Amino acid sequence: MESIQRLVRSQTFSNWLDVAIGISITTTGISDYIKGTIRSLHDEIKYTEPCVRLPNCSSDCSKTEQNLSKWCPTCMEWKKQIMKHNRYNNRARNIKWKRISSKEWPHDVNEMVKVFAPDWETMIPYNEDLSVALHVIHNCKKFNIPIPVYNRVRDIRNTNAHGERRASITEKNQALNGLLKFLKRPEIASTKSGKKAISKLNKLKSTSALKLATTDVSIKRRLVQTVFLWF
Ligand SMILES: [Zn+2]
Repeated sequence: MESIQRLVRSQTFSNWLDVAIGISITTTGISDYIKGTIRSLHDEIKYTEPCVRLPNCSSDCSKTEQNLSKWCPTCMEWKKQIMKHNRYNNRARNIKWKRISSKEWPHDVNEMVKVFAPDWETMIPYNEDLSVALHVIHNCKKFNIPIPVYNRVRDIRNTNAHGERRASITEKNQALNGLLKFLKRPEIASTKSGKKAISKLNKLKSTSALKLATTDVSIKRRLVQTVFLWF
């Protein structure tokens, strides 16, 4: 505990913490955009031919049948329609179908999102981890975030997660500006969660998460989660 107290008094650690909180805010901020986009894709598949008239799957093919060509017509067709929106053909073979429940695709949007999740993770939801969210955005063609914007956000997240737990004030500002640029894209800024995140990040730029936490319970919760995750 003593080392945490010493770290908290360090300005560079406080800056790093601000970026970590900024990343957490961004993750929540883009959730409406991801949910809305995935939901409209799900509706598109569910309510049009050829999936609209298919019966329910009774055996959960993705979990019970390794040979993809032996899946029932419903799972087979849903997979085909979902994969039309997969940006990279070469990742299809890495998808861990066993970790996904294909019989739930027609009923559960969140089960469909897992097809676009990173290969290493299908259990952590996109609204809890920016890396998972970025993979969904990157892998699904329904999202139109330009690659440089995507890359910048990914780098900010990776530097914060894997680098030293300190940042200069310039690094903090550059990171928060990069996250804000992402959130200010019209398709994100027009959502409720996007607007809220932009306002919080602007506050974070002019002060610190440690100061904001004294009056903002959601920042306080994020701080506790971040400290719990790293110490
Ligand atoms: Zn099936």
